[in-house]
Amino acid sequence: MEINIPASAIHSDTASPKCLTEDAIRKKGARTIKNYGMTAIHAPAWTATVERAAFKPCIKLKDVRLNRNIPLRKRRFMFADINPEDVAIHAPSGSQSANHAGKLWRQFGRIVKPEPRTSRSGSHPSTKKPCLALTLITIFAELITHNLNKSKMKKNLFLLLSLVTLSCYGQLRNADIYKIPEMEHGNIRSEIQIPDIDGFHTMKCDLHSHTVFSDGHVWPDVRTREAWQQGLDAIAITDHIEYRPRKSQLTGDHNEAYKIARKKGEELGIIVIHGTEITRNKPFGHMNALFITDANPLAITDSIAAIDIAIAQGGFIQWNHPGWPDNKSTLYPLHEQLIKDKKIHAVEVFNYNEYYPVAFNWCKTMNLAFTANSDIHELVTEIYGTDIRPMTLVFASERTEAGIKEALFAGRSVAFFNGHLAGRAEHLRALVKASIRMKVLNAEKNQVEIVNLSDIPYTFSSGGSQFSISGSQTIRATLPKTKMASVRNCFTGMDEYLTIDYSELKVAD
Ligand SMILES: [Zn+2]
Ligand SMILES: [Zn+2]
Repeated sequence: MEINIPASAIHSDTASPKCLTEDAIRKKGARTIKNYGMTAIHAPAWTATVERAAFKPCIKLKDVRLNRNIPLRKRRFMFADINPEDVAIHAPSGSQSANHAGKLWRQFGRIVKPEPRTSRSGSHPSTKKPCLALTLITIFAELITHNLNKSKMKKNLFLLLSLVTLSCYGQLRNADIYKIPEMEHGNIRSEIQIPDIDGFHTMKCDLHSHTVFSDGHVWPDVRTREAWQQGLDAIAITDHIEYRPRKSQLTGDHNEAYKIARKKGEELGIIVIHGTEITRNKPFGHMNALFITDANPLAITDSIAAIDIAIAQGGFIQWNHPGWPDNKSTLYPLHEQLIKDKKIHAVEVFNYNEYYPVAFNWCKTMNLAFTANSDIHELVTEIYGTDIRPMTLVFASERTEAGIKEALFAGRSVAFFNGHLAGRAEHLRALVKASIRMKVLNAEKNQVEIVNLSDIPYTFSSGGSQFSISGSQTIRATLPKTKMASVRNCFTGMDEYLTIDYSELKVAD
């Protein structure tokens, strides 16, 4: 956990007696103070690295090493202020760190109270302070006066660009109106760290969602914005084709929701997949037709004919939630025939808040793609809070819709839900190897340092002992002498876990 606080940003005239003062930092005698107890600034769990910054008015909370217990996905940058008279805080939001950042902000950020300003004419307060210009001048002056090396120069230029980009949010500030841009999260995306594998891009996809155009509760573009904010690469809009309770209010056809969501996707740079859910009673059940070109012709009574039409459009068929609604996951002869005829390509082994262990075996033995999806009807945060939502990890040769489609047809996917993964052993092994680095500290005692580069938590079991490593965490452990481990959050079949040789994870220094 490290926080960079330029000493010059820390004022001694703060109202809080517990606050770090510049003097206090100087007394520590060094340019850098490591492991400084942050109890002094109301953040008991923190340690800090304190150093002078290239330009004065900045508190920078480094995200990367801030708190390893907070998944990277929750570490969102927030520019609280860029007024050179105040203090800028770059902090993750939606997390404990953000709360601490908020406290820091309250302590440091408002030390200099904003003065009401008037325009040159004096008739109206100006909505544009010379904040940006001052900031730029300050930074350039610092860049010139400090004999900066190349990398520092790069870093400062990056910060400069960030400030230029974000400055527009911080400009409006006067007696009439005081904008608090850090309260608005609409433009913040939480990235989820999941590594690419074997030359493929790992695409984070939710292949099942609903809008008001069937029985969902949100307008279609909300689905796109949620998906973007939550770090997904792709979302499929799959409204029920047969069930449209708001049809009298919403006159659009079966493609309308997709079109609205897609438009937002083009704005945000996120892939929106055209789909629909063919919704019948068991034994047929519910099937998502994905990557279709026109949902309207699927609105027919013959379920198999609807699948045929989807497939003729190049569609990919996912058998949804096989254990719902009767809590029985039954592979009926109808499904066996559809699978044999290549009219079912994937099974949703996880849906909403439940998974179907027996379906792991179907995917494994019949070569079907594993998928996990939210089937969200409400707001995503209403159901999953700020946790990582369920998703299908798709290993695509290119980061495009066509890339995702090709990979799904080839069965290159893993279901990811609530810290669990289900998929083929080869894909799970590649994911674990790309996520976990193991460095030997003492070969004789078998002591290792294990780094998890992903936001996926892993649990390893071997030789009668078990340890877990959270997302983006580093731990030190003594391994049992056994070479092979069972990865308990990685399902390759019903009651079957991925096994991995520890030596596959070991790296040189
Ligand atoms: Zn359904
Ligand atoms: Zn559904």
